[in-house]
Amino acid sequence: MTRVPLRRALADLPAYVPGARPPVGAQAYKLSSNENPYPPLPTVMAAIADAAVDVNRYPDMYATDLSQAVAQALGVGADSVVPANGSVAALGHVLSAVCETGDEVVLPWRSFEAYPIAVTLAGAVGVRVPVAADGRLDLPAMAAAVTPRTRVVLVCTPNNPTGPAVHADELEAFLAAVPGDVLVVLDEAYVEFVRDPLAADGLAAFAAHPNVVLLRTFSKAYGLAGLRVGYAVARPRIAAGIRQATTPFGVSGVAQLAAIASLGVKAELDRRVDAIVAERVRMLAGLRAQGWTVPDSQANFVWLALGEDATEFAERCTRAGVMVRPFAGDGVRVSVGEPEATDILLEVTQAEPHRV
Ligand SMILES: *Cc1c(COP(=O)(O)O)cnc(C)c1O
Repeated sequence: MTRVPLRRALADLPAYVPGARPPVGAQAYKLSSNENPYPPLPTVMAAIADAAVDVNRYPDMYATDLSQAVAQALGVGADSVVPANGSVAALGHVLSAVCETGDEVVLPWRSFEAYPIAVTLAGAVGVRVPVAADGRLDLPAMAAAVTPRTRVVLVCTPNNPTGPAVHADELEAFLAAVPGDVLVVLDEAYVEFVRDPLAADGLAAFAAHPNVVLLRTFSKAYGLAGLRVGYAVARPRIAAGIRQATTPFGVSGVAQLAAIASLGVKAELDRRVDAIVAERVRMLAGLRAQGWTVPDSQANFVWLALGEDATEFAERCTRAGVMVRPFAGDGVRVSVGEPEATDILLEVTQAEPHRV
């Protein structure tokens, strides 16, 4: 028996539950992890193959070319971009750059399950503010939860797993209410899927407010979840602090080149995003026509607030051939993927006795 003590915080750490995978050899659509259903484009595949030749070398530690490519795409300075091993890692670096032990981080709940873990590992204390019944973040309540001990507020827009995006007027009122020395992190993992004309513009908020940081990723819209690459966008002084907290050589050379190649074929990737958005519209319309009440998702997933029936519903989906993501006692998140998968889902929801 080892007598080495582990950090006390680990005992209470919630587990990150990955989306279920189909059993080996079984046919099932994986709608459980908000992944992109399309394989990489040939150009991106070629970049990955080219980069493989150099894996005996360490990558560019600061991902200079990628930072520049992202900066150019967003219209910000390259010194504002901090690439990381996925935007979940970027969030961890942001928190370790800003939080002292015991500082408070205000976050919506239910929201991205990585948040409570990242906050606890950073030595900070999470303050959860309930998401409204319609799946929208309650920004006035989040602003009211800010205390002198608050260092960071996490704003997930669109919110995973409920789906709605924060509106521009809500965000402006929120940013006006939050003190300028509190960092506001806009997690925009699904920003490419947003079509709500009232949705907040994260880049505009970043330009107008020095305490705003954006998190973005190549995992969802651009289909590179398996390569792990995302980034933070922050004012140069904050970005330098986040960079200090990053894992050395955290973004592999393969990931860097694949991300750069993806930006090069952005128009083609955006057409795939349009197709996924069209499929989301069809899924939402199908559910509503069956009598379901579903939040206005602006992401590549929809939320069924099934409460106690969540787990059983997910099991029914699995038996029908689609894997979805249950949050026990709360609801089920269904990613938008192949049209055939939507058809199966709509058959299961049609037969579900406990519609919400
Ligand atoms: C998927 C997701 C991320 C991105 O994760 P990566 O580490 O970049 O793969 C970040 N935030 C939210 C809310 C997500 O759902």
